[in-house]
Amino acid sequence: MSSAPNAPSAILRDVFGYAAFRGAQEEIVEHLSAGGDALVLMPTGGGKSLCYQIPAIARHRAGRGVAVVVSPLIALMHDQVGALEEAGVHAAFLNSTLTFPEVQRVEREMMSGRLVLVYVAPERLMTPRMLGQLDALHARGRLSLFAIDEAHCVSQWGHDFREDYLSLDALHARYPGVPRIALTATADALTRADVIARLILADARVFISSFDRPNIRYRIVEKSDARRQLLTFLREEHEGDAGIVYCLSRRKVEETAAWLTAQGIPALPYHAGMEAGQRRERQDRFLREDGVVMVATIAFGMGIDKPDVRFVAHLDLPKNIESYYQETGRAGRDGLPADAWMAYGLADVVHQRRMIDESPADEAFKRIQRGKLDALLSLAEAHDCRRARLLAYFGEASPPCAPAQNACDNCLHPPRTWDATEAARKALSCVYRFRQDGRQRFGAVHLIDVLRGRQTDKVAQFGHRRLSTFGIGADLSEAQWRAVLRQLIALGHLRVEGEFSTLELTESARAVLRGEVRLLLRQPSERSKGRPGATEARDRPGRAPSSMGAAEAARFAALRSWRAAVARERKLPAYVVFHDATLAEMAREAPKTPAALARINGVGAKKLEAYGRDLLRVLGEAR
Ligand code: ADP
Ligand code: ZN
Repeated sequence: MSSAPNAPSAILRDVFGYAAFRGAQEEIVEHLSAGGDALVLMPTGGGKSLCYQIPAIARHRAGRGVAVVVSPLIALMHDQVGALEEAGVHAAFLNSTLTFPEVQRVEREMMSGRLVLVYVAPERLMTPRMLGQLDALHARGRLSLFAIDEAHCVSQWGHDFREDYLSLDALHARYPGVPRIALTATADALTRADVIARLILADARVFISSFDRPNIRYRIVEKSDARRQLLTFLREEHEGDAGIVYCLSRRKVEETAAWLTAQGIPALPYHAGMEAGQRRERQDRFLREDGVVMVATIAFGMGIDKPDVRFVAHLDLPKNIESYYQETGRAGRDGLPADAWMAYGLADVVHQRRMIDESPADEAFKRIQRGKLDALLSLAEAHDCRRARLLAYFGEASPPCAPAQNACDNCLHPPRTWDATEAARKALSCVYRFRQDGRQRFGAVHLIDVLRGRQTDKVAQFGHRRLSTFGIGADLSEAQWRAVLRQLIALGHLRVEGEFSTLELTESARAVLRGEVRLLLRQPSERSKGRPGATEARDRPGRAPSSMGAAEAARFAALRSWRAAVARERKLPAYVVFHDATLAEMAREAPKTPAALARINGVGAKKLEAYGRDLLRVLGEAR
């Protein structure tokens, strides 16, 4: 080994078992180790934790004491500390779940200088007791750094504002010379400026990573029978995988979870209407057991840093791109291929529009919400690269999906389009005829029936057979008409109104009626019913990837069941013991000696010592 044992790259290799830093990690680590302040903006799964953990270890080894990590999420602290201890790094947390004797024990460890990292909730950090202890450590030069995780919590603009974060500005004046690093995955400029101002980070170096998540495949399919489509997606591509299914309402969460369970998929419902104990228990099962599908409202997700979530599915449209990015971002933190899958249809557009219209907010606020929804709708309707559009929304210019990325549906299978200009004119003029005909308004279902010339009760009741638009659209299927209307609503040519979601022309509809607006729609394909983009065999990291040979798959399975037993015994989530990626590499390389095992990514010195012998035995038996 060439580098000094305390060099960051040596710590990365020996403690965490990783061969190389990712992206800006190395620069950040060096900047912080040398005593500088930093603001780190990195997407979920980018590897923020190592940015402060490695400097903490380096500085501790150099006799500079303990690193204090401020984290708002108790569940997260627990797992982070578990993972550090597994890697042989002495860490602990201080939060409200500890008894007083436990608190005292951690404090003793901290004051004695043995502890490398201590995780604290913000409200605890600012207590006189804790500050007194930190003062004493600081006086002795034994306070190595402050890491402020989820730093966007300090901003009122952000979505997770925490009052307690505001007082963290005091750290700057109180502990001069102690480097501070603030980290967040929240990108927008407003929040960023706020974090810098409120945490007094004006002199900090700002590290901004690309917000691209190259391992996530973005797919948006046309909704026909959403549940069935979801089931097909799960069965064909994610059997045995852990994932999240987002629904808008509590009722739909309950129903969908029950239905999936009846289909033999281990699904759990989660929403804010359930009592806290039940929510905690379900979250725990999701984190600790393999292959649980969580069906949830957006109440679920904050602070879930399970790395092997293989898919995030949306059965309903989120309200804007920020939410979509954040929710889908919970997939694939481990960097292995993951899916962001959404089924989207006419009813979603109608529903989201109505939610905004009927909300009690003022007109200015509604206008902003409508604009944000429109941006999401154009992402959903896009024929070109979804990834590029997503990043463009966050101000990042990006070419379409590259081969190294898990390409989005549109890049993988460029959709064929059809010219719907004529169809759009027919639909709008039919709405216009309704209006002329006794000032009536109708919803999409009736409109489509009239266009297609169906003899329904409602057609009879209103005498709509005699409208000149009756039956002029018989050449298109109902699904095609729904797509046309969806597009017209998404583009703002039709407005949805009132309790019955009736359709109304807008000002801009004139231009369409006059044939001045060309409308290109995605050709509904057979694939969009089932598994778009899934024609090629995809590796499923959760189980034996399809590229594995029989022997390799057998080793992988044996390693996974060994890991499950260890995780149970140690009361830790399986991924804290080893990631799937690490086990897959072991199965592939089939190392026969401790030295060969140590070369596998994710096997550090401590884990080699603790598990090496067992692993070589499991690998030997599965050969
Ligand atoms: P974030 O907090 O930014 O969402 P994490 O710190 O949880 O991300 O890291 C995401 C995953 O990537 C973790 O499982 C971590 O072990 C892994 N990881 C981080 N840095 C590296 C690296 N340089 N090489 C390999 N794996 C890494
Ligand atoms: Zn793409």
